[in-house]
Amino acid sequence: MVHTYSDNWNLEVFFQAGSHSEAFKNHLDETVKNIDGFRKAVSSWNPENSPNGATELSNLINGFERAAKQLRQAGAFVSCLQAQNTKDKKATELKAKITELSANFQTVLLEFDIRLTKIDKVEWSKLMENPFLKELQYVLDERRERAAEKRPAEEEALITSLSTDGYHGWSQMYDLLVSSVKISFNENGEVKQLSVGQAANQFSNGDRKVRQETFLEWEKAWGAKADFFAKTLNHLAGFRLNTYKHRGWEDVLKEPLDMNRMNKETLDSMWSAISDQKQPFVQFLERKASLLGLNKLSWYDLDAPLGKSSTKMTYQEGAEFIIDHFSKFGPQMADFAQMAFEEGWIEAEDREGKAPGGFHTFFPESSQSRIFMTYSGTPSNVSTLAHELGHGFHTYAMRDLHLLNRNYAMNVAETASTFAEMIVSDAAVKKAKTKEEKIALLEDKIQRSVALLMNIHARFLFETRFYEERKSGVISVERLNQLMEDAQVEAYGGALENYHPLFWASKLHFFITGVPFYNFPYTFGYLFSLGIYAQALEAGDGYEEKYIELLKDTASMTVEELAQKHLNVNLTEKEFWEKAVKLCVNDVEEFLELTNDK
Ligand SMILES: [Zn+2]
Repeated sequence: MVHTYSDNWNLEVFFQAGSHSEAFKNHLDETVKNIDGFRKAVSSWNPENSPNGATELSNLINGFERAAKQLRQAGAFVSCLQAQNTKDKKATELKAKITELSANFQTVLLEFDIRLTKIDKVEWSKLMENPFLKELQYVLDERRERAAEKRPAEEEALITSLSTDGYHGWSQMYDLLVSSVKISFNENGEVKQLSVGQAANQFSNGDRKVRQETFLEWEKAWGAKADFFAKTLNHLAGFRLNTYKHRGWEDVLKEPLDMNRMNKETLDSMWSAISDQKQPFVQFLERKASLLGLNKLSWYDLDAPLGKSSTKMTYQEGAEFIIDHFSKFGPQMADFAQMAFEEGWIEAEDREGKAPGGFHTFFPESSQSRIFMTYSGTPSNVSTLAHELGHGFHTYAMRDLHLLNRNYAMNVAETASTFAEMIVSDAAVKKAKTKEEKIALLEDKIQRSVALLMNIHARFLFETRFYEERKSGVISVERLNQLMEDAQVEAYGGALENYHPLFWASKLHFFITGVPFYNFPYTFGYLFSLGIYAQALEAGDGYEEKYIELLKDTASMTVEELAQKHLNVNLTEKEFWEKAVKLCVNDVEEFLELTNDK
C-alpha cells in the first residue's frame, strides 16, 4: 500500500506549542540543573586519589551524557523552530539561551579533560579494563591526549580569554567588512548596489556579458578593500601560528588533522591521487567552453548554465523515487526513508517565511531525526532530500551507541549523505528521458567534482603555502594575490583563461576561526564516500550490513582504522583514492561522449 506523504513535519511530539511551549521551558530548566550538577561533580573529583576510580569516572561520564543529550535535544528543537518560521522572535531568544548554555557546558568539559590528564599511565590502563570505560576508550584517550598536548591549564585559559578579542574578533571583523562590500550592477540602464550574496548569484546567469561585468565589478570591489582583508587575514593567522608555537606544534596541519582523526600520509595520498587525474576535468572544462561558444572558460564562466533539466517530480513522486532506489541498495535504508516520510520527520513545503537551504538534525532523547528543506520539484531538490535522509540514516545506524561514541568528525560527517545522494543521482541519470536531460544531470554531478577536486584543492594549496610564509612575517596583498592565482592555475590544470586572485578575500572559509582549514574535510568526505560506493557497486547485494557496521564506527576510531577494518583498504596509499576519483572521471567520460557531436 502506498501512503500519501505529508510535506510538513511534526514537532509536537517533542514539545507542544512551539516556541511558547511550557514543556520546553521546563526542559531548559532541567538542562541548566544538570549542567550545574555535572560542574559540581567535576570540580569535586580528585582523580589522583580516588579509591573507586572506575565507578566515579563512569558516573561522571553518565552526567556528561545526560547534559549533552538534553542540550542537543533543545538545540535541535530551536533550530527547527527558527527554520520553519524566520519571524519567530521567541525562537531567536531561545537560541541565545542555548548558545549560552553550550558555552557553560564547554567550560566544564575543559575542566573535566584537564582532570583526565592527572591520572597516570598505569592507573589509566587499569581504569580502561572496566567494560563500560573500555567501550569509550578511543574517545577518552583522545580527550586526555589533546588536553595533555596543550599548555598548562592556566596558560590555556589565558589563551582562550585573549582569543575573544585577538582571534575570533578578526573573524567578526571580516564579517563586518564583507557587509560593507557593495558591487555595482547595471540592470536595464539603472545602476544598483548589490550585496556580496546577490552578486554571487549572477555568476550562474545565462548571459555571459552579465557574468563578465559582474566579475569585473566584483574584483574591483574586493580590490578596493584588499588592504583591510589582508590585515585581517594576517592577524588571524598570526594568532593561530603563535598559539601553535607556544604549544610546540610545528605543523600548521596538526590541529585540523587531529580534529579529523586522520594522518598526514592519508591527506597527501588523497591530493596526490587527485593531482594525477586532473586531465579529464580539464577536458570537461574545455568541452564546456566549446558548448558555450568560447575558446577557454574564465573564472566567471565556471557556474554558467549549459541547459536546464525540465523534468519535475511532485513531492510524492520524489519520495517514492528515493525509497525505490534506496531499496535496490538495501531494505534498511529504504525502510528508514519510508518511516521518515510517513511519520512527519520532514518539512519540505514550498512556502514563504522559511529559512533558505536544507539541514538534518537529531533529537537524541527521542531517537528521531528531522529534515528541513524547501521542495519545488527539481532534480536537485530530490538529491537534497536524499542527501539529508542519508544524514538521518547515519544517526539512525548509531542510535544505540553511547553519545560519546556518536560524535563523528567533519570529514566523515558527509559519508552517508553523499552515499545516499549518489544512489539517487545515478538513478536519475540512468532514467533520463532525453539526451538533453541526461547531459544536464551529468553536468550537475560533474560540477560538484570540479568544486571538490579543483576549487577546494586550490584553497588547500593556497592556505598551506600562505601559513608557511606567514611564519616569517606579514604577507602583502600582492603576494596573497600571487599565491592564490598560482594555486588556482595548478588546481584547475591551467584550464581557465583568467582566474580570481582576490579569492582569498572573497571566500569566507579562510576567515573561520571555529574550525581551522575548513576546506579539505569536504574533499575527503566526498571521496571517502565514493570509495565506499565503489565497493558497494562491486559487492552487489548484501553490502548494507557491512555499510551499517562502518557507519557505527565512524566516531570511535581514526579514519585509517575505520577504512582498514571495514573496507580492508589502507587510506595512506593512493589506490583507494584513485578508485574514488575514477568514479567522478566516469561521469566526465559519459558527458564527453554525449556532447561529442555538439
Ligand atoms: Zn550534508
